[in-house]
Amino acid sequence: MADVRTLPDAEVAPDAPPSPTHVTIRREDYTPPDWLVPEIALKFTLELDKTKVQSKLTVRRNPTSATANAVLRLNGDELKPVGIWVDGTPSEAWEMDGDDLLVTLAGDAHEVAIETEINPSANSKLMGLYASNDMLCTQCEAEGFRRITFFPDRPDVLSKYRVRMEADEARFPILLTNGNPVATGKLDGGRHWAEWEDPFPKPSYLFALVAGDLKPNRDSFTTMSGRKVDLAIWVREADLAKTGHAMESLKAAMAWDEKVYGREYDLDLFNIVAVSDFNMGAMENKGLNIFNSAYVLADTDTATDVDFDNIARVVAHEYFHNWSGDRVTCLDWFQLSLKEGFTVFRDQSFSADTGSPAVKRIEDVRSLRSFQFPEDSGPLAHPVRPDSYMEISNFYTATVYNKGAELIRMMHTVLGPEKFRAGTDLYFQRHDGQAATCDDFVKALEDGSGVDLSAFKIWYSQAGTPLVDARVSYDPGSGTATMELEQRVKPTPGQPEKAPMPIPLKTALIGEKSGAEIAPERLVLLDQPKQSVRFEGLSEAPLLSINRGFSAPVVMRAQRGPHDLERLAQSDTDPFARYEAMQDLAMNLLTAGARGEEVDPEPLIRAVRNTLDSNALDPAFKAEAILLPQEALIAERMDVVDSDAVHRSREHLRHALGSSLAAELKRAQASVMAGADRTPLAKGTRRLRSVALDLIAGGDPAEGVRLAKAQFDAADNMTDRQRSLAVLASLDGPEREEALAAFLDRFKDDALVVDKWFAIQAQSQRTDTPERVERLATHPLFSLTNPNRLRAVVSQFAMNHWAFNEESGRGYRFVSDMIMAADRLNPQIAARLVPAFGKWRRFEPKRSALMHEQLERIVGTAGLSRDTYEQASKSLG
Ligand SMILES: [Zn+2]
Repeated sequence: MADVRTLPDAEVAPDAPPSPTHVTIRREDYTPPDWLVPEIALKFTLELDKTKVQSKLTVRRNPTSATANAVLRLNGDELKPVGIWVDGTPSEAWEMDGDDLLVTLAGDAHEVAIETEINPSANSKLMGLYASNDMLCTQCEAEGFRRITFFPDRPDVLSKYRVRMEADEARFPILLTNGNPVATGKLDGGRHWAEWEDPFPKPSYLFALVAGDLKPNRDSFTTMSGRKVDLAIWVREADLAKTGHAMESLKAAMAWDEKVYGREYDLDLFNIVAVSDFNMGAMENKGLNIFNSAYVLADTDTATDVDFDNIARVVAHEYFHNWSGDRVTCLDWFQLSLKEGFTVFRDQSFSADTGSPAVKRIEDVRSLRSFQFPEDSGPLAHPVRPDSYMEISNFYTATVYNKGAELIRMMHTVLGPEKFRAGTDLYFQRHDGQAATCDDFVKALEDGSGVDLSAFKIWYSQAGTPLVDARVSYDPGSGTATMELEQRVKPTPGQPEKAPMPIPLKTALIGEKSGAEIAPERLVLLDQPKQSVRFEGLSEAPLLSINRGFSAPVVMRAQRGPHDLERLAQSDTDPFARYEAMQDLAMNLLTAGARGEEVDPEPLIRAVRNTLDSNALDPAFKAEAILLPQEALIAERMDVVDSDAVHRSREHLRHALGSSLAAELKRAQASVMAGADRTPLAKGTRRLRSVALDLIAGGDPAEGVRLAKAQFDAADNMTDRQRSLAVLASLDGPEREEALAAFLDRFKDDALVVDKWFAIQAQSQRTDTPERVERLATHPLFSLTNPNRLRAVVSQFAMNHWAFNEESGRGYRFVSDMIMAADRLNPQIAARLVPAFGKWRRFEPKRSALMHEQLERIVGTAGLSRDTYEQASKSLG
């Protein structure tokens, strides 16, 4: 690994691609493909550094295409044709257009054969066919298939695949691809072959191939119509013992999708493969899901409760795509949320049904606020269905995924579960085997439910998070209350004027004295700039409980004083609203503190004490409720961000809570260790322990060190171990380095745990953190080519608000150095690090200028990828 800091800024690696042409692709320019490819036969002669790909495309003119174009355009990326045949005869009627291959055809139907040669070992972009730990695997979404062979690489060209793989049997004993295996055999020289067929037409982005020395965890699932499906999770032999949870999650997801959506699995087998080098979390290739090993492998000694939950969520997500993505796919990449927003909504519902719905909702909203809200208020803001892009990889965003899921959730809320199901049944029936659009989805929901949802379509096209102001006035004489609502969306890039949006707000009134629901929950649809709602027959002063369950993805600014919030934190009948009251109470103090105002923490201290003492609340909910908002979220609420002031304000409140509630917090922290038990109660207990430990350390750092080290030493599971180490990593004393060294020594051979070791240090709340991450980037175990390791250091550090924004700009320089170094190897991963700089306009002048300087430095780099150029140039605005 090279020390990236020694590279001059504008140096271009010898093999860097020529300066890319930064072409913008627009949704309005969509035209149907001129040619269709109903069938494709592929033959792979596999080797790590020289793989031969022979493809045979059955092509025919698309009857719905407006042009009678004789030229068949086949996309390529860093490919050269070795040979081209049309109807069995070598053809000269072709030319290259940039990376694309253009073949001129005489008639309406032909067979086009192409041979290419690729080098998987040299493929550091991890798109197309690449090598990882001596195995070969693929990633084709969005445009990786064109790095394997020439093809109309767009999601609306669906083909039936027949694939033959040949390889050395000792090196690649297992050969897998999509669909079902049809034949295998031996060849001379220790080689073997396998042939597979996928009966379902699919777009090229769902193609997958795996070759390697893998071992399966096998199981089976009997579908609702009684068919037996073989299941297998393929990993390296040493990892087999860590696949049990993923397998249980898969079977639970299959059963859930039958019960809740009526969706049955359609092939004879379902394979999952774990890969160490992977750009994304996982990929839903038909019948052959390829996973980042972080979302497959777990045991209680090496994986945390969060890891276990993430595995269940991602396994379910990819499985659900078999219908929402594979059987019904996207017309073009602008429709990405058609499959992603809907599938995230489905995996969120699955996790809620199999765990605690209230805690799950809180976690999802926290993630929305941490990742999507900042995107929506920054220079990279874009609608759920974007209108243009330079590089589609940059649009696998929290907006397309998580806000897309919130949009589906709002329609689900308006329709109710039964009508929503009628809508999705119609959607799957109507569009099975097709490439569809977001409009098609809404139309199917409307036709299936009989409810007009057209107003909600603006959520697909208008970017920005709505701000909603709410205020209640009460007239004791008549027993009536009036709620005044007002909405506004700030301008976003390319959208200076905003229209009002339909915002479904679950609302109730809670009695100020009784703490009971004095006006039961109702769904208020705010669809005007201003609106008022009346409540009658009230017997006491009301407290406003609004956006219950987070029924709309908006920033709610309800006028409620500390007394009202304290009361709601104690008595709101909706768990999410109760959590929100607590968070609002804390957030108001934190923002006031960051502005330099005197604050009175007493109402929050009382509310936290009440929460800790409550016998009615489960520990997982308590942990969420007393967790102070993160610094990045506080910064989001500031007009001008001074990260030191934000940090001081939060530390001040953390100290106040920790010192005032030391006894209560220690009781929570000392609650019996739950060991390997993964029941909701045990998980919640562990979560509350760590939140309490962090507050104790805020009140008394020396006591924090003592308790954290004791917890670390006694831990019999990774959750307790990792969280106590994270607390220690921010404190002073020899215990910190001792524990970090012991952790690495014990787990140095487990890549996923080593990632945690890096991440804990990159996240540490210390003044020397920027210096420490620079050293971590020269550590022998650091790697620029492994996305998980790069993220563990660089993304985690960029999310460490205080340290990343250290005032000398050292953190900014480190991250931009890493972006430029990573860009030469893997542009997709490099580009994902750029949004850290997107908030430069929000900061005080000094930091703002330093961030701006780094963005200009990135944009000015010669040979920069299209991916990183798009993100950086848009961030400059
Ligand atoms: Zn997905």
